[in-house]
Amino acid sequence: MKSKTEVGFWNGERCEYCEGFIVEKTVDLPRRVGKRYVLIKNVPVGVCKECGTRYFAANILKTIEATIRARRKAKRKICMPVYSL
Ligand SMILES: [Zn+2]
Repeated sequence: MKSKTEVGFWNGERCEYCEGFIVEKTVDLPRRVGKRYVLIKNVPVGVCKECGTRYFAANILKTIEATIRARRKAKRKICMPVYSL
């Protein structure tokens, strides 16, 4: 669900560290929830072309937190490898 105002949010913005151009991408973002990790898919982020710094819009972070807190049913689960010594 993308509103029109979100598209191109980062277009024309510059990196605050290296002044590089920021481009918008969607990434899969692992977030820690208690003792577990969940993977949030299709998160729109701004990525600096030069140094790779990621920028998150405040409303995106809120949406992620709200999604986790609401404990929406996960779209699917993936298995993670577990190592034991
Ligand atoms: Zn940069």
